[in-house]
Amino acid sequence: MFSEKSLRFRKLHARIIFTFSILLFLVLLAVFYSINNIISASTNQDIHKNLDNGQELFKFINAGSSLRLTQTASILASDFAFREAIATEDQNTMVSALANHSVRFNASAMFLVNLENQLIADTVGLAQSNAPFPFPDLLVVAEEEGTATTIVLLDGHLYQMVVVPVFAPTPIGWLVSGFIIDDKFAKNLKSLTGLEVSLLTHQQANKQWELRATTLPADLSKSLSSVITGTAPNQGGNSVQIKLNANDYLARISVLATRPNGVVIVAVLQRSLQQALAPLRFLQKTLLILSLLSFAIALLASTWIARSITNPIRKLGALAKRIEEGDYTQTLELDSKDEIGQLASAINHMSSGIADRESKIIELANLDVLTKLPNRTLFLNRLEQIIKVTNPNRSQVAVMVMDLDRFKEVNDILGHHIGDLLLQEVATRLQNVVTRRSDTIARLGGDEFAVILMVNDVKGAKNLANKLLKAFDQPILLEGQEILINASIGIARYSEHGEDVNTLMSNADLAMYAAKRNNSGCVVYDASLAWQTQDYLSLMAELRRAVTDNELTIYYQPKLDLKTGLIRHVEALIRWEHPERGLVLPDNFIPFAEHTGFIVVITQWLVENVVRQLKEWRKDGISLNVSINISVRDLLVPKLPEFFAKLLKTYDISSQCLRLEITESSIMANPQVALSVMNELKEMGLSLSVDDFGTGYSSLLYLKKLPVSELKIDKSFLIHMEKDNDDIVIVRSTIDLAHNMGLSVVAEGVETRVVYDLLVDMGCDLAQGSFISQPVAAQNLLSVIEDYQLRQVKV
Ligand code: C2E
Ligand code: MG
Ligand code: MG
Repeated sequence: MFSEKSLRFRKLHARIIFTFSILLFLVLLAVFYSINNIISASTNQDIHKNLDNGQELFKFINAGSSLRLTQTASILASDFAFREAIATEDQNTMVSALANHSVRFNASAMFLVNLENQLIADTVGLAQSNAPFPFPDLLVVAEEEGTATTIVLLDGHLYQMVVVPVFAPTPIGWLVSGFIIDDKFAKNLKSLTGLEVSLLTHQQANKQWELRATTLPADLSKSLSSVITGTAPNQGGNSVQIKLNANDYLARISVLATRPNGVVIVAVLQRSLQQALAPLRFLQKTLLILSLLSFAIALLASTWIARSITNPIRKLGALAKRIEEGDYTQTLELDSKDEIGQLASAINHMSSGIADRESKIIELANLDVLTKLPNRTLFLNRLEQIIKVTNPNRSQVAVMVMDLDRFKEVNDILGHHIGDLLLQEVATRLQNVVTRRSDTIARLGGDEFAVILMVNDVKGAKNLANKLLKAFDQPILLEGQEILINASIGIARYSEHGEDVNTLMSNADLAMYAAKRNNSGCVVYDASLAWQTQDYLSLMAELRRAVTDNELTIYYQPKLDLKTGLIRHVEALIRWEHPERGLVLPDNFIPFAEHTGFIVVITQWLVENVVRQLKEWRKDGISLNVSINISVRDLLVPKLPEFFAKLLKTYDISSQCLRLEITESSIMANPQVALSVMNELKEMGLSLSVDDFGTGYSSLLYLKKLPVSELKIDKSFLIHMEKDNDDIVIVRSTIDLAHNMGLSVVAEGVETRVVYDLLVDMGCDLAQGSFISQPVAAQNLLSVIEDYQLRQVKV
């Protein structure tokens, strides 16, 4: 569904959103937690303060009411009629005065006690029942301090009691007034403080807490006494947390009075935590909603930011992919000037930079550095283009492949520098001949050049090839050296000789090899070349195998001394005992071996085997001289003389036993090199012979300069001598001239008695040919020689 890349971007996208969200969540959590803590701490503090204030207020009200009661009592105590009523013990007046006062000053109970601590009158009916004054301790305090006040429990109700003395003018008794502390009192206090107010008593006798007044609803107040059991009341500011029917309260319990009869009176001020924290809960809710809201907004914002980052990155990714695929035409223009915008412009620059460099590389990859001509790659591409695209009219393309002859020798002998200059000059000459812009000249590699020609027919191509060959007739002058170079050209035409580039090129190659083999300059491809070349191509591999697998062998052909009738000389001729083709003659592989340079290996193999054979013959008491064919490539090996010297020394064979035959054309191909090597070989005692004389256009005068001692007239003259008088003339004059120069003459290809006789008649020195003997294997040679000598004797 999604490509791997888009998934990757999605991941980045998700990562940004996720990171943002987590961070925000943590920040919000921290804020939420801190605010919550602060608020709840301040709320707690508020409650404590509230309780403190409540406690203070409670004390204040108590003090106030005690003062009011004291004043009320004092007013009454100083009332003349009241004092008189006491003095006269007028019970009724005292009671009615107490009752009037209690109503007037809102006192709940009033008592009159004499100095003997006897209750004289009261508003609650205790005096009637002759009960004693229940709080004598108060009187003791009043006696000491003038007045006394405390909270007491009376008839199950709490009262604040105040004791003042009654003077007439001397003390005559105590006036005690009490103010009831009930639910109403508690409610008043609650309305002032906002706190729940409860008053409880604890009796030593039954160890029970009893609720005396409260602002709590009945269901809660019931459980209050059981909840505060065990909770130590205190006078200080410490608060305790209590739970009433699942409601939490913070409470302050303070002892109001501890009575001598063991009753403890406490006040419980409490504040509902639920209520106190209600504004906090609201705040928390608001905060939570705000947090969620900001979280949602941040989520949207981070999604937007993530998109704004990943979208251009995705586009950059797509651009990079295009660049990877080699498309440098696309660019990405981003409006933003931020890092991504800078990255986009950097990638745009990189892309155009790569495009520039690539085109330079392509240019370099397509040109031959040395000649600045198109190289093989470009050549083949153009050919392909021309065939496929630009030339639907199939008839007008021809390919010409040209290979220089003997270029390797130039390189080996004169050095690579001259070789390079030569190739450059060849390129120039090619360009001078092939001038049409529509044609393409290329250097395919080494000394191989090629041309795509836009021509109407093969004739046109051939004409151009001949012009080219002619261009090489002029020697090339390089750093003072004159170099004569030949070329072989093969031509193949589209589509007659090949429908595709490969076939066309390999057929042009075949034609070129044929031209090289036949020394014919230029050859146009034809189908018959194919099979020849097939052999030709596999020949190299086979030839290597021939040497390693010992498939080569040496035949010897006797040279008869026409003066003595004896056979003292033989020529070593190589044969190839091919496992499939049978005995292969040297003409079928020696030119190829010479062309490829492999001849050097063959020569060394042959020379070593000949020397070994000489050694064996010597052991058998047979003395024969052997002629060996040496090709021009052998002469170019600098260590050739050294090689002979070593070999002869190793086998202890005299250099006189060997004669080297060098063809006239070999000598003429490179006269200078040939001359110096031949001199060296001559000095070593080896005798030299000019083979195939008459085929190489050399003059006898030139041969005079060479250190040769023998001349072999080419068999073509001998074979036709019977019928061709000209040949008789040539042979005769050659023999005469050679003798004049002190050279002995060998006639090769002597097939008939007639020729044999003619040669004897002409004074020829040696004869070689089927008339005497075909070349034979070494093991047959001696019997062949013996047979021949015997035949001679019989004749
Ligand atoms: P070549 O050196 O001129 O050798 C003489 C050739 O003439 C030999 O051919 C021989 O068989 C042939 N021949 C001899 N008598 C007659 C005859 O009466 N009639 C006819 N028609 N031919 C006769 P082969 O052995 O086929 O050698 C051909 C050429 O191959 C040689 O010509 C020589 O140039 C080259 N060659 C042979 N062996 C070697 C070698 O070991 N090294 C090199 N470099 N070249 C060799
Ligand atoms: Mg020969
Ligand atoms: Mg010959």
